[in-house]
Amino acid sequence: MDKDQIIIIGGGLIGLATANALLDRGENVLVLERNAETATAASFANAGMLTPSQSTPWNSPSDIANILSGIGRKASPMSASFRTIPSYFFWALRFMFNSTPTRFERISKDIFSLAKYSKDLTEKIRNLEEFTYDESTDGTLKLFRDSERLEKSIALSNRIYGESNVIEVLNQKEVIELEPALNKVRKGLIGGIHYKDDEIGDAYKFCKALEGIIRNKGGRILVNSNIKKILLNKRKVNSVVTDRAVLQAKRVVICAGSWSPVLLKETGIRIPIMPVKGYSLTYNTAGIRNTPKLSVIDESIHIAITPYIDRIRVAGTAEFVGFNDEVHPKRVDYLNLKLNEVYPHIFSKVKDDEEAEIWFGFRPMSADGLPFIGESKVKGLYLNTGHGHLGWTLAMGSADILADQIVGIETQIDSKPYQANR
Ligand SMILES: Cc1cc2nc3c(=O)[nH]c(=O)nc-3n(C[C@H](O)[C@H](O)[C@H](O)COP(=O)(O)OP(=O)(O)OC[C@H]3O[C@@H](n4cnc5c(N)ncnc54)[C@H](O)[C@@H]3O)c2cc1C
Repeated sequence: MDKDQIIIIGGGLIGLATANALLDRGENVLVLERNAETATAASFANAGMLTPSQSTPWNSPSDIANILSGIGRKASPMSASFRTIPSYFFWALRFMFNSTPTRFERISKDIFSLAKYSKDLTEKIRNLEEFTYDESTDGTLKLFRDSERLEKSIALSNRIYGESNVIEVLNQKEVIELEPALNKVRKGLIGGIHYKDDEIGDAYKFCKALEGIIRNKGGRILVNSNIKKILLNKRKVNSVVTDRAVLQAKRVVICAGSWSPVLLKETGIRIPIMPVKGYSLTYNTAGIRNTPKLSVIDESIHIAITPYIDRIRVAGTAEFVGFNDEVHPKRVDYLNLKLNEVYPHIFSKVKDDEEAEIWFGFRPMSADGLPFIGESKVKGLYLNTGHGHLGWTLAMGSADILADQIVGIETQIDSKPYQANR
C-alpha cells in the first residue's frame, strides 16, 4: 500500500477530473467509488451543457420568485417536502444572505472566471487525447417570449461578464434561421441570445473517456468501495475506512458531491452543501425529421433541451427533498410540458415512448453558489465539491486549481473565492 498516493473519494465528474489533474502532476491516485460504476450519480444524465454564459448562482431574486411560484401547480418545476424543510433551514438562510445584488454579481463573476478556465481545459484534453462524447461546439441558445426579459438578460450578461462572454442577440427570424427546428413555435418567440462560446456533450460519455485516460496514465479506480469514515490523528488525515479495509493515506480529496457533508461530519468540518434534486428525460429521436442541433435554454426556469445523435434530453427542475429517491410525476409532467412547448413536432412523436429514460440526480448545491476547492482545516484533507448546477462546466478548472495547490504551485486563476475553509 503506497502511503503517498492520494485517495480521491467519489467517481463523478469532479473526482475523475481531479484524478486526471493530479496524475498530470506526477502524483499517484486511487479513486474510490461506492457504486458499481463511476459517473452514475449526479454526473450521469445531466443537461449536458458547458455554459460559462450561465454562470449565475441560483439565488437571484427572479430565480427565487420563479422557484416559489412553482409550488402547487399541476405540472410544477419544484417542490419541497415538509419533512425535509428543517434540514434546509440554515442553508436557506445563507442562500438568501448571498442573494443581495452586490454579492450576486461578485459570485457570478467568480463562477464565470472558473467556468471560462474550465472550458479551455476541457477543449485542451479533448484535442490532446482525441476522444469524443457527442460534443458540439456550436454554442447554446436562450429563448425569450418577452422583450423586457430579453433586455434584462443582455444587460446582465454585459454587466457581469463583459466582452469575454461572446453573445449574439437575435430577432425572431434570426432565431429560426439558426435553429430551424423551432419554426413551429416561432409565433411565441420575440428573440433569443446565441451564446457562441458554450458547448454541449454527454457528461457520462465524457466521464467514461476520462476513466480510460486515468487508467492509461497509471491511476487506479476501485468501484463498490464505500467509505465509511475518515480517520484523523492530531488534526491530520491518517486513513480511510471502507466497507472492506482500512487504507492508510496522508492526503485525501473529498469529491463526493451531495454526500460530501455526510462524510465530513465526523471530522468536525461543516460545509453548507445540500442536495437539490433535478430530473431529465431522454427520448429516442431516430427517424424523426427536423430535430434540433443546438441546446436551448428556456429563460424562465432553468430548463434545457439538449439534442444528441438520435436522442433528445430535456432537463431541469428542483426538489428540496433531501435524498428522497422517488420519481415525482409532477416533475416528469413539467419536463414533458416544456418539451411540447418548444418542440411540439418532436413531443407528439416521442410522448408514448415507453423506453424513455427518466433520471434524477442530486446537485451538490453550496449556499453561496461557489464550489469548495482546497485544503480544509484538517491537514491533508482536501475538498473539491459543491459545484451545484454547474458541475460539468466547472469540473476541469476546479480539478486543475486543486491539483496545483496540492503539489504547491501557483494556480492559473485566483483561487481565493473558492477556498475550502471560507
Ligand atoms: C438535472 C440536472 C441537470 C444538470 N445539468 C448540468 C449541465 O448542463 N451542466 C453542468 O455543468 N452541470 C449540470 N448539472 C450539475 C452536475 O451534473 C453536477 O454538478 C455534477 O455532476 C457533480 O459532480 P460530482 O462529481 O461532484 O458529484 P456526483 O456525480 O454525484 O459524484 C459523487 C460520487 O461520490 C460517490 N460517493 C458518495 N459518497 C461516497 C462514499 N461514502 N464512498 C464512496 N463514494 C461515495 C457517489 O456515489 C458519486 O458517484 C446538472 C445536474 C442535474 C441534477
